[in-house]
Amino acid sequence: MPITTEDMVRWINRVAAVLHENREYLTQLDSPIGDSDHGINMDRGFKAVIVKLPTVENMDIGSILKTVGTTLVSTVGGASGPLYGTAFLRAGMATSGKNELYEADVVHMLEAALEGIKARGKAQPGEKTMVDALTPAIAAMKEAEQQNVSMSQLLHRGSEAAEAGMKATIPMLATKGRASYLGERSIGHQDPGATSSWLMLKALADTSA
Ligand code: ADP
Ligand code: MG
Repeated sequence: MPITTEDMVRWINRVAAVLHENREYLTQLDSPIGDSDHGINMDRGFKAVIVKLPTVENMDIGSILKTVGTTLVSTVGGASGPLYGTAFLRAGMATSGKNELYEADVVHMLEAALEGIKARGKAQPGEKTMVDALTPAIAAMKEAEQQNVSMSQLLHRGSEAAEAGMKATIPMLATKGRASYLGERSIGHQDPGATSSWLMLKALADTSA
C-alpha cells in the first residue's frame, strides 16, 4: 500500500507530537555533549510546521515536505535547523508532484534527504551525528524494498535499524558539531540528533501501523 498525502500529513502531526513529548529527553541528551537545546529546537520548529500545515495539506507530497523544510530552516537555530531543513527540502524535491509514494519512492525520498544532510553538514557515518541513525535505516529499507516486503514492514525495519544506529553512537567519538569540541569526553553519550532521527522514522512506521 502506498503512502498517501493524508498519511504524510498524519506523519508530520505525529512527529510534532512525539518531539514535543520528547523535548526534555532530547534536551537532556544534548546537555553532556552540547548546549542543552536540541529538544527545544525541534519542538519549536515542528510547532511552527503545525501552524503552516493547514495552508499546504491539500497540495502534493513534495510541496508539503518543502514547506516543512523552509519552516525548519527559518525557525530553528542551531545545527539541526539547517540540517533537517535541507533534508525535508530535498525530500520534497524527490517527491515533487506526487500524491502517493510506493516503496521505491520512499527509499528514493529518504536517500535524497540523507544526501542533503551529508552535503550540508559534511558528515560521514561514524562521526556521532544524525547520519549514524539515518544511514543504516535507509540501507535496511533499501534491502527491504528489493525483497518486496510490505510498506509497513519496510518502515518498521527502517525504524529498528535507526534505533540500533542511534545506540551505536554511544561509544563513538564526535568529530562534527558541538560535541566534537569535547574530544574524548564525547564518548559514552548518545547523540541527540541521531535520537530525533530515530523518533521521526519510528513515527513514520507507526503512522503506517
Ligand atoms: P546545536 O548543536 O547547534 O546546538 P542541536 O542541538 O539542535 O544544534 O542539534 C545537535 C545535533 O545536530 C547533533 O546531535 C548531531 O546529530 C547534529 N549535527 C551537528 N552537526 C552536524 C553535522 N555537521 N552533520 C550532521 N549532523 C550534525
Ligand atoms: Mg544543541
